[in-house]
Amino acid sequence: MTTVDHFVNGASFAGESTRTAPVYNPAAGTVSREVRLATTADVDAAVRAGREAFAEWAGASWAKRQGVLFTFRELLNARKGELAAILTNEHGKVTSDALGEVARGLEVVEFATSMPHLAKGEYSENVSTGVDVYSTRQPLGVVGIISPFNFPAMVPLWFFPIAIAAGNTVVLKPSEKDPSAAIWLAELFQEAGLPDGVFNVVHGDKEAVDALLHHDDIASISFVGSTPIAKYIYETASAAGKRVQALGGAKNHMLVLPDADLDLVADSAVNAGFGSAGERCMAISVVVAVEPVADELIEKIAQRMGTLTVGDGTRSCDMGPLITRQHRDTVAGYIDIAIEDGATVVVDGRGIDVDGDADGFWLGPTLIDNVSTDSRVYTDEIFGPVLSVVRVSSYDEGLALINASKYGNGTAIFTNDGGAARRFQRDAQVGMIGINVPIPVPVGYFSFGGWKDSLFGDTKAYGPDGVHFFTRQKAITSRWLDPSHGGVNLGFPQN
Ligand code: NAD
Repeated sequence: MTTVDHFVNGASFAGESTRTAPVYNPAAGTVSREVRLATTADVDAAVRAGREAFAEWAGASWAKRQGVLFTFRELLNARKGELAAILTNEHGKVTSDALGEVARGLEVVEFATSMPHLAKGEYSENVSTGVDVYSTRQPLGVVGIISPFNFPAMVPLWFFPIAIAAGNTVVLKPSEKDPSAAIWLAELFQEAGLPDGVFNVVHGDKEAVDALLHHDDIASISFVGSTPIAKYIYETASAAGKRVQALGGAKNHMLVLPDADLDLVADSAVNAGFGSAGERCMAISVVVAVEPVADELIEKIAQRMGTLTVGDGTRSCDMGPLITRQHRDTVAGYIDIAIEDGATVVVDGRGIDVDGDADGFWLGPTLIDNVSTDSRVYTDEIFGPVLSVVRVSSYDEGLALINASKYGNGTAIFTNDGGAARRFQRDAQVGMIGINVPIPVPVGYFSFGGWKDSLFGDTKAYGPDGVHFFTRQKAITSRWLDPSHGGVNLGFPQN
């Protein structure tokens, strides 16, 4: 059995822990390797490595840091197939989807190569006679990143390229369910010329996370995961005096107005509902159909679902397995809840034929109509290939539903009415809006994040918010004496 070690100070690190967790190949249903679960002392070793590397990395020239970033970008682009294979093996997503995940991560690396420009300060000459004021942005120190299972490469890539480009050092704690991608990325960055100790990875569970949250030398925490844990992370790390951004769960609605192109809507609902087996925080999980379109739309969606193939991601399938057997069973349990709550199961994904091992964690695409907004099928984040339809009679009723949700990650409107779309982009209490676009993930030079229980903290991931988060501003007021100056004056200078 292979063991996935930590990566500390530029080398593989076993640490002192004797605890491990199994890592599955979800398409085979078997344990493929085990991962170490760090102790508090193991986390401390990683933070120490980051602290010792910080002064030299933060003091390196922009040219030197950008050189390493550019080399990392080239290596990652050239070898993305290797990373995609790791994602498919440990997460289960199909190869094309895994390559898409890497592509979105690469965007952030490319954005981070502009850091000398992005972190530039401002300069005002002669604010008072002979006095200049200017600002600069400096790195924070050792920053902590804690990431979820569903994007084992992309979510870490949302943060560490920007943090490192800005001169910080990093301790990343990836999901223990699919830990190998983080190690591969850290080793690749090292190969690109990153000095030892700038990028460290520790694996683990709550013990490792708590050690990061309470460590005096961790300056900030960037977290992505479920809402209850995000809230815990935000409260704990804030109380420990750290800068925190904690992105949480989601329940994304797609509002379909009667004038929408129903073929485009059906394609989009299927792509956004079942891509990556619905294990995406930007997946569409509720179609809100403004009558009279529901019957026709459901027929079109169900027809497309019939063409989807489910199986081992290394083969040419549309959709892979879920992450664990336990998660698969929890998601399948929502189909029973739907039936108990009086909804109509239009397509049932249990027991579908798969192109893969019988022991894999399979659940086929599922479509449920007439979902009541009291049902847990509607209120819970299911995080699997289950798409609900809620029927409403007006735009206002649909908007009210979206705004009543405790989540506010993403939402989409499908319509041919520009006025309605414009009204929606303003009125929806959600952080990311799609107009005839089902998964409105902003490109790398904007910022990603939701509202309400989908994001705790005031700073989103990557883009300008990422630069802001991983740097702090300093303002300098300077005067170089010249012969005209002098004299005592206790007031503020006025001219
Ligand atoms: P999770 O909350 O279970 O785990 C996330 C991280 O927290 C992991 O590294 C895990 O080891 C750690 N963790 C788990 N339990 C913990 C505890 N009790 N104390 C401290 N740390 C703990 O999330 P997940 O199942 O890995 O990922 C899926 C969730 O992530 C979904 O809710 C999804 O919506 C969310 N997500 C959100 C975004 C976003 O941008 N908002 C992006 C991706 C995923």
